[in-house]
Amino acid sequence: MKKAMVHPWLELLLATQFFTTCRNHLLSNRNDCNLFCIDCEAPPAAFCYYCRSHHHLTHRVIQIRRSSYHDVVRVSEVEDILDISDVQTYVINGSSVVFLNERPQLRGCVSSCKALSSSSYSCETCGRALLDQFRFCSLGCNVKGIKQDMEMPAKAENGSECGGNEDVTSGNIVGSTSENNTGPSTMTEKKKFNENNEEVPPAKRVARHRRKGIPQRAPFF
Ligand SMILES: [Zn+2]
Ligand SMILES: [Zn+2]
Ligand SMILES: [Zn+2]
Repeated sequence: MKKAMVHPWLELLLATQFFTTCRNHLLSNRNDCNLFCIDCEAPPAAFCYYCRSHHHLTHRVIQIRRSSYHDVVRVSEVEDILDISDVQTYVINGSSVVFLNERPQLRGCVSSCKALSSSSYSCETCGRALLDQFRFCSLGCNVKGIKQDMEMPAKAENGSECGGNEDVTSGNIVGSTSENNTGPSTMTEKKKFNENNEEVPPAKRVARHRRKGIPQRAPFF
């Protein structure tokens, strides 16, 4: 049931640099090129608010947004025209979004992110830790994954689907949510330390008796 294909406009979308200033509307306020037309596959792919009203009024246009300097698109704008069921969604500013491209990972971020999310899901392409059970972190990684899937079965042309080689059984998701049933007995200091007082630290000898030993002046010559 998978659509093992990559839309040409999707590759154009992922390769496009957004949030540049529109050359045609340099003096206008809303001249950020943050719009993309799915129907026009001709560059320039990114255009501004005014370009849209001039050239793409009846076209399917999606708006690119930014989150921490990374391009995202709202799920509501692409879910009808794109299969994003394998892509991790994030809620940013109250909207569900997906990232366009893979984000560079800082060293050590993977482990810390995993520790935060407490999940073992990760992007199949770039390895980024995911919050939920998705296959990819972004549309870009999804495209790469699709292309890899397309290249894989190029051996036999029988057309017979020999699925099941990989143990990807989607029914293995066992929710281990039985945590709060048995109240764990709070370990109330049952550890008894050795109460042997044998190890009395040796008191330092106070040289009291030396007092007698203090040589007094001998009055005798
Ligand atoms: Zn413009
Ligand atoms: Zn258009
Ligand atoms: Zn990824």
